[in-house]
Amino acid sequence: MTRAPIAVGIDLGTTNSSVAAIVGGVPTVLPDAKGRTTTPSVVSFPATASTREEAVLVGHVARPRLIDDPTNTVYSSKRLIGRSFADPAVRVARAAMPYAIVEGVNGQVAIQTRAGIYSVAEISAMVLREMTAVARRHVGTGPLKAVITVPANFNDAQREFTRVAGRIAGLEVLRIINEPTAAALAFGFDGSRDGIVAIYDFGGGTFDMSVVEIRDGVYRVLSTAGDPFLGGDDIDVALAGMVADKFRRESRVDLRRSQTEWQRLLFAAEQAKCELADREQTEIALKEAAFAEGGAVDLHTTVTRSDLATVAYGIVDRSIELTRRGLQAARLTPKNITEVVLVGGTTRVPLVASAARDFFAREPLRDIDPMHAVALGAGLHAALLTGIPIKKDQKSASPGAALLVDVLPHSIGMAIAGGGVEWVLRSNSVVPTEEKRRFVTHRHGQENLRLVLLQGDSPRAAECTKLGDFTVTGLRPAPAGEVQIEVTFEVDANGILSVTAIDLDSGRVCSRRLKISAPSDDVVTAGTARITSGRGGQAS
Ligand code: ADP
Ligand code: MG
Repeated sequence: MTRAPIAVGIDLGTTNSSVAAIVGGVPTVLPDAKGRTTTPSVVSFPATASTREEAVLVGHVARPRLIDDPTNTVYSSKRLIGRSFADPAVRVARAAMPYAIVEGVNGQVAIQTRAGIYSVAEISAMVLREMTAVARRHVGTGPLKAVITVPANFNDAQREFTRVAGRIAGLEVLRIINEPTAAALAFGFDGSRDGIVAIYDFGGGTFDMSVVEIRDGVYRVLSTAGDPFLGGDDIDVALAGMVADKFRRESRVDLRRSQTEWQRLLFAAEQAKCELADREQTEIALKEAAFAEGGAVDLHTTVTRSDLATVAYGIVDRSIELTRRGLQAARLTPKNITEVVLVGGTTRVPLVASAARDFFAREPLRDIDPMHAVALGAGLHAALLTGIPIKKDQKSASPGAALLVDVLPHSIGMAIAGGGVEWVLRSNSVVPTEEKRRFVTHRHGQENLRLVLLQGDSPRAAECTKLGDFTVTGLRPAPAGEVQIEVTFEVDANGILSVTAIDLDSGRVCSRRLKISAPSDDVVTAGTARITSGRGGQAS
């Protein structure tokens, strides 16, 4: 008998990562040797090692080094993955992160540490390798297959580099799926949960909301909205800011001036925030919080739930505004929602949970730990894809459940004269979908038609992600306007995007898949829209 395939689901989080698999037929988050089910997505480089990997610290051991060695300790790198160095979001990150974000190959982002320069995919690979090590304690040897999750608003490049990170880590990446989709799978799995589910996922660094329709084990994402720069971290910063202001008034020392002091305060603020999930007030105490001219100064203060609510209000409100937009995109109101699912550690903040409850006017589901839902869903998806049997109480899991119907996270179109974009497939359109466009030659003797394919949501081509070129060659030399070409843009049920041109003059058909401006890979996922990268195509 052949050994059952080994497949896991990995929630590669901005702040924390988790890995899940089917153990004894039951979806399970796999604990590490100390029983912990989440691992900080933090990588630290304590030595200038030539054997670089041996000296790298990842996860729980790396996290305290955010304080002790901030310039060599990388966190929230997911915010950088797949972005170009010129990306405005990278500029924001450079100002905010204590580690050095530099320009790498091909204008990509890279991270400079004392151990050398690493691509963001390499950093993510180190986190994934750590998750693999956690998984290995439970699943044994053999090639490890994985479903990895990403935020719904990730574009192709971000998904592509996540896939690359998986491969660097030695994983066989089965699929890249949206985090809210995975969460829906985890919550909807028992078959008694048909309906329209709103997934409100508030993590450490990102906020995502999705509306998912679940019918007979088929999941259809009706719309998504989110912000990759909104999370519990922002609440920590706001709470630490409040404490720092009070401390400055009392001691005339600004903790924000020293990176180490500020990081210590951020840690303490985060801890206080978590404690306030279970009680009305807590203490923040930092021995030798700062060194002033008169010597060391301690910090001791009480923070209450209402303090937390005050500083978090704007952050929570923004998430609700995005939620409203997500519903609007699906042409729904809170009344149409059957269930609300809370995902992500930040939903443990009482104000957050109550804001979501008030907006939807219903009690959210909480029977799965919000920190585990995404990994569990990814683990289920991996099992469904590889035929690992899953025990089920009521209805048995059908492999059909793995066929997630999804939406395009961004529009797909082409560059037009003057720096604009003509959209062909709009974001949030349900796949499978197909659109045709007709082109005519505009020059005498024109032999080629070249389209620059873009993905994005900006009306300006320069602000969109270039997917690649699509060139139709060998047109009959003729007067301008005589040769017509019909181009079909299609995303099928499996999410493969293909572009096909028919030369209406000669009947010749020219079809191709897109060349993504990233290391070659067989399949890239966009939403669940997979884009197969071309071989030997024009470089973009
Ligand atoms: P991500 O998906 O971005 O990696 P997580 O879902 O792991 O994030 O959530 C991490 C965030 O959740 C952090 O900001 C952390 O402080 C917060 N968090 C975790 N537990 C609690 C808690 N009990 N109360 C409030 N916030 C919490
Ligand atoms: Mg998450």
